[in-house]
This record gives sequence, C-alpha cells and structure tokens, in this order.
Amino acid sequence: MTKAMDQILWHEVEPGGVITEPGNASSYHTGTWRSQKPVYIEEKCIRCSRCIIMCPDAAIRPDYDANIVTWNFDYCKGCGICAEECPVDAIEMVEEG
Ligand code: SF4
Ligand code: SF4
Repeated sequence: MTKAMDQILWHEVEPGGVITEPGNASSYHTGTWRSQKPVYIEEKCIRCSRCIIMCPDAAIRPDYDANIVTWNFDYCKGCGICAEECPVDAIEMVEEG
C-alpha cells in the first residue's frame, strides 16, 4: 500500500535526477521536455550572439557560412530565455506543433 506523502521518511524517498558521471549532458535530449519552441526571425537578427551565450542548453550555434544562428532541437527545452534576451525580438516562442 502506498504511504501518504507526510508519512514517508527521508530515507524512503526514491532518489531522482542522480548524475553518476561528469560530462554526460549530451546523452540527455532535453528537447523532449519542450511545449514551446523558439522561431527565428532572420530579418530582425543583428547577429549579436546573445542568444547563444544565454541558452542554458547550448542549443543555439552560429552558422558562419549562412550568417545566421541555428537551433539544435534535440537539446532546446523551450525555456524561452533566448527570446527574452534577444534585444531586437528576433526570436518568438510558439506552441509546439
Ligand atoms: S528556448 Fe531555452 S533551451 Fe531553447 S534555445 Fe532558447 S534558451 Fe535554449
Ligand atoms: S539574440 Fe537575437 S539578434 Fe542576437 S544573435 Fe540571437 S537572434 Fe540574433
């Protein structure tokens, strides 16, 4: 029988989110968490790289050949920080389709 939350002792709590080895972030596709998605508006972008620096998942990279920034949606968790930090509103968050 499942115990009520206030009856569970600290040593009975099942551990969660345990990181057992360093440098394993690429193994976890945080993109599966996403409910919203950033959309890049290239015409507005001034190539300041702020979104690249601010993304906590390193999901944004420069494409120097095309002179744009690009997203790796395996790791973009849809937090919206890039859109919030973009100084010219060149990133818009939309509902994940
Ligand atoms: S929404 Fe969040 S995780 Fe995705 S690219 Fe922007 S800052 Fe990174
Ligand atoms: S923060 Fe905005 S303007 Fe700067 S590179 Fe990213 S999308 Fe472009």
